[in-house]
Amino acid sequence: MKYALVDGIKTEATPKAQGKCLCCGAEVIAKCGEKRAWHWAHKNNEECNYSKKEPKTQWHLDWQNYFPKEWQEVRCPEDNPIHIADIKTPEGLVVEFQHSYISAGAKLAREQFHKNMIWVVDGTRLKKDFIRFYEKFNNLEPLGINREKNILLYKVKFMDNLLPECWRELTVPVYFDFRIEKTDDIENEKEKILRNLIWGFFRINQWVFAVSMPHDCFVEYVKQNKLKEIYQYAWQLIANSIKTPQKQVPKTINQAKGVRRSIVLPSNASARKINRLMTKYPGSRF
Ligand SMILES: [Zn+2]
Repeated sequence: MKYALVDGIKTEATPKAQGKCLCCGAEVIAKCGEKRAWHWAHKNNEECNYSKKEPKTQWHLDWQNYFPKEWQEVRCPEDNPIHIADIKTPEGLVVEFQHSYISAGAKLAREQFHKNMIWVVDGTRLKKDFIRFYEKFNNLEPLGINREKNILLYKVKFMDNLLPECWRELTVPVYFDFRIEKTDDIENEKEKILRNLIWGFFRINQWVFAVSMPHDCFVEYVKQNKLKEIYQYAWQLIANSIKTPQKQVPKTINQAKGVRRSIVLPSNASARKINRLMTKYPGSRF
């Protein structure tokens, strides 16, 4: 647990400090060893919703620290039982950072408690998660680039196994962080680009969208409560494309087969288009 109440003030763990649990009010003691990040633990091992949350990794703490302290580890007393949000903005958006495995039940429970929430997932815990995303990247069809908003939007043509199974449902938006320690040293240009951006996935009606942006932009979007603008923009783009369909309805079975084939195997031209968009992408670090 990152914070405890010491004399009623939200405080980080320091050696030998004592305090009260933010969630259940039980006595907690500071754990300040060398292996794990400094944290608080219940003195008598009581279990509450705060202690049951995943042990904090440095990745988790780094993410939380992009945001003001007052927004971190926020007690949500309107929920019963009480929940502690990793981040809760003044406008009420909850951001939960997930490094370890989470069961479908626990995931859904948290979504139902917070309702207005997004996930940020550590996409580097399992190597295969990034490999799958890399290999299935052509499942994404570029929809539009918005330099002003600093984002690139895609339509997800088919989910397939693009995302880890437990995250495919997209009941709330999910953002993947694939950065590794030496991302800038990666020689494979495509991998470097994919890892250097944050990748969000969200659903509007039957459509699934992806959005990519630099990490600092994502933080700003959350801080300024503007993520909704991205979702609205995606909706606008898809609405426009429905009004002006680009592909003709196939007249013959052979044509229809051709259309299907081109969807399953995107052409080199569309791959080049993605690359071109990516290279021109503003604000990224390559
Ligand atoms: Zn507690």
